[in-house]
Amino acid sequence: MKARVLRSADVLAVVDLLRGQGYEVLAPFCGRGRDTCFDTVTDDNREHIQIHLPNPYYPPKRFVLPHIERLMKVERCNGDLRIEPTYEAPKRAIFGIRSCDVAGIYHLDRFFLGKEFSDIYYEKRRRNLLLINLVCTDRERDIGKECFCMCADTGPAARDHFDLQLMDLGEEFMAVAGTPAGESLLANPIFRKGTDEHVEKRRAILERLRGHFESTMTSWFSGAVRYVSQDKVTEKTWEEIGQRCLECGGCTYVCPACTCFTVSDRRTGVKEVERVRTWDSCALGGFTRMAGGFNPRRAVHDRRNRRFFRKLSHYFIQRELSVACVGCGRCAAVCHGDIGMPTVVEMIRRAAAQAEAR
Ligand code: SF4
Ligand code: SF4
Repeated sequence: MKARVLRSADVLAVVDLLRGQGYEVLAPFCGRGRDTCFDTVTDDNREHIQIHLPNPYYPPKRFVLPHIERLMKVERCNGDLRIEPTYEAPKRAIFGIRSCDVAGIYHLDRFFLGKEFSDIYYEKRRRNLLLINLVCTDRERDIGKECFCMCADTGPAARDHFDLQLMDLGEEFMAVAGTPAGESLLANPIFRKGTDEHVEKRRAILERLRGHFESTMTSWFSGAVRYVSQDKVTEKTWEEIGQRCLECGGCTYVCPACTCFTVSDRRTGVKEVERVRTWDSCALGGFTRMAGGFNPRRAVHDRRNRRFFRKLSHYFIQRELSVACVGCGRCAAVCHGDIGMPTVVEMIRRAAAQAEAR
């Protein structure tokens, strides 16, 4: 590992460096309680950036896949249609993105920049986005009781897919580059060469953090993946899960690995419409409703099982090389029915294991 270190007092100089290079920098700020968010850094709010805080519920994936995004404008002009695609590619850096969210964006990359086709809207934003990953090291402030990145194998320290990784060692931060863009940042004199002692300190902190996660978390997924993939989850279990769902869509809107969207046209003038892409949610009744009004998945449990099939089945794991959950714990934190990923995985595992034992 080519490690560099910088003084803790200088960590916000990384933000200044990026802003100096013309990046719009998005960084984490505190609100009330769990009310935290990523926002654009300005001269006025720079001092209020928070290094250690609960990860915002609203995932930073919105900077590469906006919640609502105009795809094109269509205008009637002298009997003809003028179509104008709306490409946006702001030069942005997300400072302080957590390891689970780095994995979330990588998951979106595999979906939107897949082998067969590439989504040009996503691609343009993604190519201009830098990820400055911050390792969660503060057990009280960074790691929520719902977090299970250890189980999803995405954290607390991301292994890849970031441009630069920062980790708090106490008096200093360790910095590791993941791409040439990150490497070029390390050329700045605020960084100096790390020693074996720094590497050892990093290892010891990560070792201590591992002990902070419950041991059962490391074995959750494998059983559930097997049962879902082999279609061993009974209708009764899906119904129990469905009965607890309020169809609010919260779990999907906060999920950094959910990719579903819908496209609609809306009138913006007498002779003008715009086509927009909006995040969609499999929890909502309209998600599977067809043009004629028929809905093959009217029952909520029929839609809930799709969510977990999509996240856990071997079919998708083969295609995308990992489960479609990065262990951020947001769905567990927001769900009023307590059927976030950890609970559902546990319900699936228990019910299927009991059925097998009979
Ligand atoms: S957050 Fe919970 S209640 Fe809301 S849609 Fe998701 S599973 Fe259903
Ligand atoms: S399924 Fe839940 S825990 Fe997993 S990535 Fe999505 S929001 Fe996070």
